[in-house]
Amino acid sequence: MESSPNISALDPIVALAKRRGFVFPSSEIYGGLGSCYDYGPLGVELKRNVKDAWWRSMVHRREDVVGIDCSIIMHPRVWEASGHVSNFNDPLVECAHCGLRMRQDQIDAGIEKCAKSENKQHAFGEPRSFNLMFKTHLGPVEDEASTVYLRPETAQGIFVNFLNVVDSTRVKLPFGIAQQGKSFRNEITTRRFTFRTCEFEQMEMEFFCRPQESAAWYEYWRKERLQWFIDLGVSPERLRLRDHRPDELAHYSSACADVEYLFPFGWSELEGIACRGSFDLTQHAQHSGKTIIWRDQANNETLVPHVVEPALGTDRAILVFLIDAYTEDEVEGNPRTVLKLHPRLAPYKVAVFPLLRKDGHPEKAQEVYRMINESYHAFYDDSGNIGRRYRRQDEAGTPVCVTVDHQTLQDDTVTVRNRDTLEQHRVKISALRAELAALFGF
Ligand code: ATP
Repeated sequence: MESSPNISALDPIVALAKRRGFVFPSSEIYGGLGSCYDYGPLGVELKRNVKDAWWRSMVHRREDVVGIDCSIIMHPRVWEASGHVSNFNDPLVECAHCGLRMRQDQIDAGIEKCAKSENKQHAFGEPRSFNLMFKTHLGPVEDEASTVYLRPETAQGIFVNFLNVVDSTRVKLPFGIAQQGKSFRNEITTRRFTFRTCEFEQMEMEFFCRPQESAAWYEYWRKERLQWFIDLGVSPERLRLRDHRPDELAHYSSACADVEYLFPFGWSELEGIACRGSFDLTQHAQHSGKTIIWRDQANNETLVPHVVEPALGTDRAILVFLIDAYTEDEVEGNPRTVLKLHPRLAPYKVAVFPLLRKDGHPEKAQEVYRMINESYHAFYDDSGNIGRRYRRQDEAGTPVCVTVDHQTLQDDTVTVRNRDTLEQHRVKISALRAELAALFGF
């Protein structure tokens, strides 16, 4: 549920993203392509860090979840079984004043408005159903039989591989299968930067459990997923869990909650956590004719597991981390823009500067840079005055700057400057690694 539009509040973030190389409009030299974006040199690092943080928490640090990486194009019958061919539709209406096509529910919620009509009165035709899946053809012949879809979610790749994972690993109920990857939806209304795009990445996990345990696991995953954002530095007061009303639930779903974030345009969905019951496995069993069950040899038990699904959009998470980290403050009477990103997410953990471009400073700074870069992704910068170099790193979200100066050459100490507290102190180069580890917590 999205509310209270105030899209312009995103402008400073969009500008910083472009200026510093986090996010660029796609195909910009050709005028851009609606709702498509590219990640620049800093953005791609941030994205990798977000995906790594998720994978670490959902797969590597657990003994009950394994990963998978499925193809984007799957057998078209997958999408018949999942219900996407018949049900993955949005109600589309066209405004008689401005010609814009919009989603009926977004007009009802006050998110979409006619841009031309002065009193914002609308004249809409009857809504018609619009399927969000992108179609293409596999092979040289473009006919009905060769029609395939770009996946609109990563989850179905997990369900159709349920038996493969069970047979090839030693998983025991309850267990999860996690996947990260691109999904595609021909969204009717995009805008709002990377919040809703037609090509995006998802990080989804299907957690399979005994039916009688699914309510407890649902409670567990609701809390766990909210906490993940808080642990990565997102302001708790800008996060909330919103339980879906019964009339919002899919027919097969017994409960669903969204992790919502207070975006500049209002509270909106960031991640969904859903109890999907046995719907997906049962559908695929029926449509494929295969027996898809869990068989416990030890106590001769067979059952169709129930599923709890936390589903997060990678790009939407990145947008939240950027918005939440974006801060304007003052340093010595001068305005400063700083991205207070969690050290795990920051594209560079440390920047290393020689104070001067002479007197042996660059050689020593290069040495320090190479040493730090062994453990933490670091950035070397010797251009411009030191104040300007600090500002650039503040905008990039770099938590620590290390400066080599005259004194370094005498006593092997460097100045360490903290992005958030602005505190500076001298540290022995030999103690730098331990100091950074203590500060970052890794
Ligand atoms: P909506 O109803 O807003 O279209 P949804 O509830 O269908 O979204 P899900 O299918 O639950 O979304 O997808 C899980 C997550 O994937 C969402 O919480 C969101 O973070 C992300 N997501 C979904 N669609 C998009 C999109 N078009 N662009 C970016 N991220 C998306």
